[in-house]
Amino acid sequence: MAKGKIGVTTENIFPVIKKFLYSDHEIFLRELVSNAVDATQKLRTLAAFGDFKGELGQLDVNVTVDKDNGTLTVSDRGIGMDADDIEKYINQIAFSGAEEFLAKYKDTANSIIGHFGLGFYSAFMVSKKVVIRSLSYKDEAKAVEWTCDGSPEFEMKEIEKDSRGTDIILYLDDDSKEFLEQSRIDTLLKKYCRFLPVPVISGKVKEWKDGKMVDTDKDNVVNTTEPLWTKKPADLTDEDYLKFYHELMSGQEDPMFWIHLNVDYPFTLTGILYFPKIKTNIDIQRNRIQLYCNQVYVTDQVEGVVPEFMTLMQGVIDSPDIPLNVSRSYLQADSQVKKISSYISKKVAEKLEKMFSSDRKNYETKWDDIEVFIVYGMLTDEKFCEASKKFFLLKNTEENYFTLDEYRKLVESAQTDKDGNVIYLYATDKTAQYSYIQAAREKGYDVLLMNGQLDQHLVGLLESKLDKTRFVRVDSDIPERLIEKEDKTDTGLEGYEADVAVGLFRSRLPEMKDAQFIVSLNSLKPGDAPATVVQNEYMRRMKEMAAMQPGGGFYSQFPDSYSLVINTSQPAVKDEIQKATDALKETVEPTFHKIQNLNKEITALRDSMKPEASQEEKNKNQEKITSLEKVVSELRTKNETSIKEYASSQPKVLQIIDLALLQANLLKGEALTDFIARSVTLL
Ligand code: ADP
Repeated sequence: MAKGKIGVTTENIFPVIKKFLYSDHEIFLRELVSNAVDATQKLRTLAAFGDFKGELGQLDVNVTVDKDNGTLTVSDRGIGMDADDIEKYINQIAFSGAEEFLAKYKDTANSIIGHFGLGFYSAFMVSKKVVIRSLSYKDEAKAVEWTCDGSPEFEMKEIEKDSRGTDIILYLDDDSKEFLEQSRIDTLLKKYCRFLPVPVISGKVKEWKDGKMVDTDKDNVVNTTEPLWTKKPADLTDEDYLKFYHELMSGQEDPMFWIHLNVDYPFTLTGILYFPKIKTNIDIQRNRIQLYCNQVYVTDQVEGVVPEFMTLMQGVIDSPDIPLNVSRSYLQADSQVKKISSYISKKVAEKLEKMFSSDRKNYETKWDDIEVFIVYGMLTDEKFCEASKKFFLLKNTEENYFTLDEYRKLVESAQTDKDGNVIYLYATDKTAQYSYIQAAREKGYDVLLMNGQLDQHLVGLLESKLDKTRFVRVDSDIPERLIEKEDKTDTGLEGYEADVAVGLFRSRLPEMKDAQFIVSLNSLKPGDAPATVVQNEYMRRMKEMAAMQPGGGFYSQFPDSYSLVINTSQPAVKDEIQKATDALKETVEPTFHKIQNLNKEITALRDSMKPEASQEEKNKNQEKITSLEKVVSELRTKNETSIKEYASSQPKVLQIIDLALLQANLLKGEALTDFIARSVTLL
């Protein structure tokens, strides 16, 4: 029997391991089972190269719970260890430099494990004593037993052991008795060992017999040793991928498509990423990608490893080059991990491009479902955004799809404004904005449909990426002004008539809590709508952005501001204005001219004042102006009152306004009921 001290100078490292890794105690099982699998794989390799000539026999790894003795045993039939190996791999290697490391990284003990191969020692997180019994594959090897109670002291002695391989026996701590429950062990094995490349057996398959579950004599194999991602894509069918998907994510609809990743240089990575159907925001669930290292489960928290937008996808990634057992921040800073992330992003872009170019029709049918992935990617990943130019599509209200280049060509000639900007018109709701869409189309414009979940952000992104391009929603102005071709628009009316017309409609505008209106006049075609409600693009966007911020932000305090554009050429409108100007000729017109004259006087007074005039002169002048302004204001009020009085007996004015509100979905509740009643009367 040999006694010794483990090669570490720290008095007792185990309390440290226990403390730091407290939350993750369960990973000891993953560490021990993967060591057992490694040892088995090594033996297979030796055999393949002819360096091991004996019988391989059954190569399963067994996990056995012994409640009576309070032990958990992991056994393998791999290469085993002799006394020298244990000295070298267990006593020395594991702890070399650990003390120095501990001093340096006290707070990130998680990385200790990854860096120093403390895998085996994680057994001490849950055990008061650990025993290794091992027989090496080497000829004439002597079986050994190593015992350690968690202090740096250990004992080693020769034993009798017939079968090649290693048993790791854990005498579980009192506070770790949960690991004596078969169900707990099975759950952990399902989580960490589900795809290990060597069969892992945990107890027996159970069956229902005489009213209770009993063991059969069949071994319960917990893993699939050749998961789909390790196979060649050429050998797999769609059914294989779908079957695997449903095994991985139970209770999900079929995914839209998938990407099989396979790379060996400059790093090794395999995996399958599925694109699920996302219908609503609620469907978006992250952490559906599982990360494996040589088929050993590591984590499903993949932020940092895959590009952010791909956390919407589901599936598996397997790479021995992703450092195991390290903290999240370490993972994100790792340059290898960064490379992996941009590689995956590139692969996804390539796949999408291929899907687009090889079968555009089919790609278009999927577009509405994949748009959210692609837009999210474009918004968060510069390189992906660049690549997306080849497969990003715009959809118009006629359900036709265009690449950015195609769309530019389509609208460039008709939709360039006087400043040389190409205006992309869009709608966010085909039904609600129907009449605006129609009106724009009648002018020969094309209208995009931007009703995706992230399209509000997309509009901003595209405006910043595309040269001389602006997005304007169809209801943000009357069709004539959506794309401004000349500098001035014709109001059709002037002076007294214009004043009466504006006053007439303004006086009958509804009072709304969250909305305010201004009235403007425009001479459009006689056949166009008599009046249209539009909402300024800029203000609307500001408010939308504000609504997305917590607390609402500056713009959210403002009411929605709309313009009521009156078509002065429309016969009914023309008629109403004519009637009003006639009726108010005696009262309003003379006052109107008076106001105009007074205003002229005020302007003249202002202009006459020289900067070098004395303060007294200036004051006098100002007094005059103020008193004239008062008169103007009184006259205005008088005129407004007259117009209002007149308008109150003109149901058609109200009817014209309500039609415009109705078209803009702003006529609701009582106002709508009144409108219907009035319509009936007018009939
Ligand atoms: P790592 O696995 O990261 O190298 P471990 O502390 O888990 O670190 O194991 C240290 C070494 O001990 C392994 O590299 C291996 O050589 C040896 N070892 C551990 N478990 C076994 C086993 N079941 N069979 C054979 N060798 C083992």
